[in-house]
Amino acid sequence: MRSLARHASSLPGLPWRIRSLRTRIVVLLLALLLLVQMAGFFAIRTSINDHARRSVAEELKVGARVLARLSEQNAGKLALGARVLAADYGFRAAVASDDVDTIASALQNHGERIGATIANFYTTDRRLKSSSASGASGTQSAFEPARVDDLIAQAGRDGWASGPALVDWRLYQLVVTPVRAPVTIGWVVMGFAVDRTLTGDMRALSRLDLTFVADDAGVRRVVASSLADTAAGALIASSALSTAAGPGTADEARVGGEDLGVLVVAQAIFGRNTSAVLTRSISEAVAPFAQLQLTLISLTLLGLAVSLAGSILTARRITRPMLALARSARRLGDGHYDEPVAVDGDREIGDLARAFNQMREGISLREGQIRRLAYWDKLTGLPNRDQFLDQLTGAIDTAKQGAGVCSVLMLDLDRFKHVNDVLGHSFGDALLCEVARRLESVLVRRTDNVARLGGDEFAILLPGQGVAQARAIAERLRQALEQPMQVERQAIDMSAGIGLATYPEHADAAELLLSRVEIAMYAAKQRRAGVLVYDATFDRRSQDTLSMLSELRRAVEGDELVLYFQPKLALADGALTGVETLVRWIHPQRGFVAPDDFIPFAEQTGYITEITQWVMRKSVRQAACWQAEGLDLIIAVNLSTRDLMDLELPRRFAEILASERVAATRFCLEITESAIMDDPQRALSTLDRLHAMGFLLSIDDFGTGYSSLAYLKRLPVDELKIDRSFVGGVETDRDDAVIVRSTIDLGHNMGLKVVAEGIENEAIWQILRHAGCDVGQGYFMSKPIPAPQLGQWISAWRPPQVEDMSRRPARPLYAVR
Ligand code: C2E
Ligand code: CA
Ligand code: CA
Repeated sequence: MRSLARHASSLPGLPWRIRSLRTRIVVLLLALLLLVQMAGFFAIRTSINDHARRSVAEELKVGARVLARLSEQNAGKLALGARVLAADYGFRAAVASDDVDTIASALQNHGERIGATIANFYTTDRRLKSSSASGASGTQSAFEPARVDDLIAQAGRDGWASGPALVDWRLYQLVVTPVRAPVTIGWVVMGFAVDRTLTGDMRALSRLDLTFVADDAGVRRVVASSLADTAAGALIASSALSTAAGPGTADEARVGGEDLGVLVVAQAIFGRNTSAVLTRSISEAVAPFAQLQLTLISLTLLGLAVSLAGSILTARRITRPMLALARSARRLGDGHYDEPVAVDGDREIGDLARAFNQMREGISLREGQIRRLAYWDKLTGLPNRDQFLDQLTGAIDTAKQGAGVCSVLMLDLDRFKHVNDVLGHSFGDALLCEVARRLESVLVRRTDNVARLGGDEFAILLPGQGVAQARAIAERLRQALEQPMQVERQAIDMSAGIGLATYPEHADAAELLLSRVEIAMYAAKQRRAGVLVYDATFDRRSQDTLSMLSELRRAVEGDELVLYFQPKLALADGALTGVETLVRWIHPQRGFVAPDDFIPFAEQTGYITEITQWVMRKSVRQAACWQAEGLDLIIAVNLSTRDLMDLELPRRFAEILASERVAATRFCLEITESAIMDDPQRALSTLDRLHAMGFLLSIDDFGTGYSSLAYLKRLPVDELKIDRSFVGGVETDRDDAVIVRSTIDLGHNMGLKVVAEGIENEAIWQILRHAGCDVGQGYFMSKPIPAPQLGQWISAWRPPQVEDMSRRPARPLYAVR
């Protein structure tokens, strides 16, 4: 679970990334829109431009026709005016009478009527007779007959003539009509100056600029133009005219920084050296569209703004549920599986949210399973060690806050392995379940909790309970366990060692309290004390054991171990039959260390097998010595459970014996009842092999274990050693006396020699001898002594007199009826 949480918390940038996704969506949408708008804008712009240019060209062509029509109209007007004048009776009379004033006033009137710039009368010999002379001072001379000769000549041929005339860089459109009476008596010449009036008219009619350009002897000049002077000047200076596609074809030119449509109109109307240039500003033509384009740009901007808002909204709509999902994912990562993910949005996001929910439920389910596996014992359904530790930590925390207390009991079933081996694992499982049920049944408060720590080890948490209350509960638990258990229709007796430790008396943290209660429990088991409250001295011992292993190793290698021997005597006559080998450790610093202080430890660590070998080697050597001295003793050597499990043991013993040429029959191996019962099958096979080798076998500490007679019967043993705890009480305790006597009988019935250990006085000696016990061992005869002292002891030993028991009525307690 932790790793899951860690995994999820490695996504801190997720919301940020989603936010940047939102930006990306917005930017993408806007960019796309902008692209489309721009493309549209430019397409429209180009088409507008094309269209404008085409329409400019078209306008120019139309303009050319308008110009031609205008010129024709002017010419017509002039011709009409001239003809009317020429036909005027008064005028003709004036001409005939050479009335100059009337001629002049007629010219004036008629000229003004049609708006002519000039109205002249020429004599038949082409002399200027009279002129309206309205123009500039030079005009008069400008219209020397020579200037209109060609036209007059043409009019003489055709009846009338019209055409251009360039005079002093001024262009005129002239009409010549003869004055007949009926013969030609003169010529009327009427004309319009081609000037701003015409170009202005043209512009008013067609929006086109008209410029007349004249070429005279290589000099080109503007004759008249609707353009401003500078623009007109720039026009003729530019290459536009020379590069123009030619008369009648519209073209474009860049003049004075402006694009112009240019059309050079056929020169015929205005004379060889004169061109009429129609121009149209393209930018002007495009101008109305520019407004359109502006509108388009505004629309584009508006569109962008709307799309921006739209895309932001859309992006929000997409990313908001994603953000919500990201948040949910983080909550999941933090281990909150019970909050459903809000299903927001119907389609993809909704699907995603639903998938998330499925995942959440899946994870929650699996986490539940994992939690069950991690925190519960599968077999009994009780909390396991981890959960118990959590509960204990919590209880200690609560106790700390309220200055309260909290106790823990720990118990380990006796002989459970044996039950498992003999009756099968499924029976063992059922038994554990029954034990769990029984433990729970004793607890009354809901806060008290049983847990299975593993194997046959259980712990009970008693929050708020001090030592005294906890001890009472422990006592009840012990009694509950001692009631025979009915499992799979078999009744079975169980017992357990129970340790007790209390916060804050024994430890102030969960782990430490647990380790101390365990120490108390082992002490209880070892001493068969039922319930034991933790005591620092247990701990000191267990701390000492830490360094003990290396010290023990050093002891075996450095011969710090010493063998003591305790005589075993025939009770009937006090004769020495053998000795028991008992190991001693003379520690360089600690001094004398009793076997009870290191043998159990060596057994736990497995180091006992080394010690056993060492003892065996020394004993065999000692046996060889005594043999040489003629001392014929059976030497008893103690074996532990571990030794019995060691398949190599018989072979190694054989080697040791062979090295000193000592027969196995000189040795008796003492094996405790409980060592055999730990794993009877394996013990049996080792014992069989040892027996076959010739070793005598003895069951040590008999009465303290739970051997079944069925097993004992199958064991190849020779001797039964009654435990000293019974022997010591035979004098005073009626029960012990009964046990000792019946054990002696039992041993004899099974064909075994019976030995009593722990004979501390003569009275016990006498009682046992009387009860038929074969051999005795005890402080009364001798404490364990080093080998060299055995000789002295033998010489000093005086067996007690055989007492007639019937003469000792004063000691009724030993008497067994
Ligand atoms: P155990 O095999 O039952 O050994 C007899 C113990 O009883 C010895 O204690 C002995 O000193 C003690 N004893 C003998 N007579 C009397 C008596 O009259 N009164 C009292 N109160 N005690 C008496 P010790 O030597 O302290 O040994 C204790 C235990 O240590 C032995 O019990 C045995 O289980 C173990 N042990 C000793 N030496 C060895 C060894 O070499 N190998 C193994 N595996 N275990 C050993
Ligand atoms: Ca022994
Ligand atoms: Ca013993």
